[in-house]
Amino acid sequence: MNSTEVKLALGALLCSIGKLYYRGSLISAEEYGYTALNSIIKISDPDILNTVRYHKLSDKITASLEDNSFAYIVNLAKRIADSSDFKKHKLLSAGKNTPLKSIFNRLNDNSGNSFFAPQILGEEKDINYPSDKNVSVDREFYQKITDRLTRSIQGTKYTAASFNALLSDLEALTSFIPASASDEELGDISFYDNAKITAAIASCLYQYSDGNTNYRELFHSKDKDFLKEDAFMLFSMDISGIQSFIYTISSKGALKSLRARSFYLEVMMEHVIDELLEKLSLSRANLIYSGGGHCYMLLPNTENTKQLIRSFESELNAWFIRNYQTSIYVATGCSPCSGMTLENGGNNSLAKAYHTVSLEISQKKMKRYSADEIRALNSQSYEGNRECRICHRTGKVDGNDTCYLCSALLEISKSIQKEDYFIVTTEKLKNTALPLPFDCYLVGLSEQDVSVALQSQNYRRLYVKNQTISARYAANHLWVGDYKNDDFDRYAEESEGISRLGILRADVDNLGATFACGFQKAGKDTYSNLARSATLSRMLSIFFKHYINLILSDGESRYLSKDGKRKVAIVYSGGDDVFLVGAWNEVIDAFVDLRNSFRRFSQNTLSLSGGVGFYPNKYPIHIMAEETEKLVECSKDIPNKDAITLFDRDNSFGWENFIKGVMDEKFKLLNDFFRSDKRSETSQTYGSSFLYNLLDLMRNSDQKINRARLAYLLSRMEPKGDNPEEKSHYRNFAGKVYDWYPNKQDRSELICATYIYSYIFRDKFNKTEERK
Ligand SMILES: [Zn+2]
Repeated sequence: MNSTEVKLALGALLCSIGKLYYRGSLISAEEYGYTALNSIIKISDPDILNTVRYHKLSDKITASLEDNSFAYIVNLAKRIADSSDFKKHKLLSAGKNTPLKSIFNRLNDNSGNSFFAPQILGEEKDINYPSDKNVSVDREFYQKITDRLTRSIQGTKYTAASFNALLSDLEALTSFIPASASDEELGDISFYDNAKITAAIASCLYQYSDGNTNYRELFHSKDKDFLKEDAFMLFSMDISGIQSFIYTISSKGALKSLRARSFYLEVMMEHVIDELLEKLSLSRANLIYSGGGHCYMLLPNTENTKQLIRSFESELNAWFIRNYQTSIYVATGCSPCSGMTLENGGNNSLAKAYHTVSLEISQKKMKRYSADEIRALNSQSYEGNRECRICHRTGKVDGNDTCYLCSALLEISKSIQKEDYFIVTTEKLKNTALPLPFDCYLVGLSEQDVSVALQSQNYRRLYVKNQTISARYAANHLWVGDYKNDDFDRYAEESEGISRLGILRADVDNLGATFACGFQKAGKDTYSNLARSATLSRMLSIFFKHYINLILSDGESRYLSKDGKRKVAIVYSGGDDVFLVGAWNEVIDAFVDLRNSFRRFSQNTLSLSGGVGFYPNKYPIHIMAEETEKLVECSKDIPNKDAITLFDRDNSFGWENFIKGVMDEKFKLLNDFFRSDKRSETSQTYGSSFLYNLLDLMRNSDQKINRARLAYLLSRMEPKGDNPEEKSHYRNFAGKVYDWYPNKQDRSELICATYIYSYIFRDKFNKTEERK
């Protein structure tokens, strides 16, 4: 981006900034953003000042404005970003203290009326759940955020990197502040999302005008015609092969490098996005969403853009072929769309655009390589021909039979825990730098080392992990789900009962349909627009990349483990999916927390389904990953999804059934009966054999004779003495088991509860056996 492009984007990003300073009682009307910029923030650049000052346009203003004023661009960009909500009502200055309404209020036919408390992202003590309580955003909060924003804007230089850093700061400060404070509107778009989309659209309009600087005519006099024109492109990029790249490793200590592999790919995706944005002369404002190897962007629909994308895609795939052969592949797709589609995706137009994009990507995935690329593949010569002991790719290996990438990944797995900064350069800063596309390298740095590295001529960009405000360095902020407690090696050993690793994989149900149609209402006004789908995806990112760290460090569910810090580690969390490893019992409780928290956060408009597999410590990681993936599919087969699968297909339950039926009822009964102090002696003597017999009977329930055998089995448990309390305890247990037996649902819940109980019950003896 040249400085003119940056200034336009800044003018667009900051055009409504007066609202924040007005709500903080620092200026007398929200229209006076110019005053805030000029006299409080002390911006002196006339281009930015005039864009902000005149962007609202009035007959008086347009009479004196030059044809080529950026105010025309920003005016239209803002109108599209504001969408239909704003147009129906005159913008009121009322509601200075109005909080942000929840994006989930209108999702999937919900009619909620919840609010978000004002918070600074990354500085909250707890998850910002939407609540029915109409909290008031006080003047002091606005003063606090404008004070910090003032400093951020003052530190901004007119470069893309600086703009992107300001964008991150604005996200932290204004994610939970409404764009519009009028009570008449839905008010569920944050100040940040509105400002960001305004900037994205303004950059697109500028490029689309293609040198014609009569913005008055293009975007003002003929704005109605322009809004129907396909001036924009919804663009998406998808990196496939990520899963197998991460998990197809086998060797001692492989678990340790899992997190590094996953983090490496996450940063690689961000780097690829930033490279593309740079080539397109756009900022991260145009990135609508990224996570899980996918991203969406808003781009101008120009020949130049399409050309750049084509060459970018083939250059990127060529790099992947050179470095990873065919294991990683990138596909892009785009769909032209009009300003009208973005502001109000009526007639399904926004849903259709999303659909077109994903169709194009899946078609490309089917016939992946061009003739040129196949030739390149065939003519490739490899240095060395030994197999890497970790990733099994053939090539050059070191004395430990480890390829360069795997040994660099082992090295970085130490630093991803400690370092917050990750720098991209065009030459290796360290021997163990990780290769990135477009001939770049990545290393992790501590804060002290950053300033030195920034002086390097080969510096490309800087990423900072999980931090709010970056006053010191212009860095792109990444939220990363990186919670980890204890070592992978110790999880199995430290689990309760049987010594097993628990693997959890889960993702949000029906997410594609939700993005396409979640804000549509049959026969009524649709709520669907770009601002809403962008806000929704960002809220999900906040949950899976940021809040998940809070959830795991303060566990609540206590079915099988203590509350507090979970003994688990995030291998990957982002987009809409999660991969956790941990002590098996802690993983189940962590999943219960995650699910409950997600339901609450999404106001029950979305659900989470997943599978939990249990494995001995040294089981090959790619098999654990694949098998657990199959358990996820079992959960997705449950009607209405919202389900959990443990062990195998037979143990799939809707979440309500799992929590109420399996855990609260059956597991609790087993636990109360066998762990009861009064029965301690008896349960020690024949507890486990009883459980195995019980399981056996329940699994073969089709044989009629088995209910009689069950009665006999239960009768053998009857206490011999005449302690009345003990007798009633027994009768309660035996009666319930006998009653549940004929009912299929109760029986399968009891089978699952018995499995879980037998895992917990099979304690120290087996542990010592396994260690031998
Ligand atoms: Zn390797």
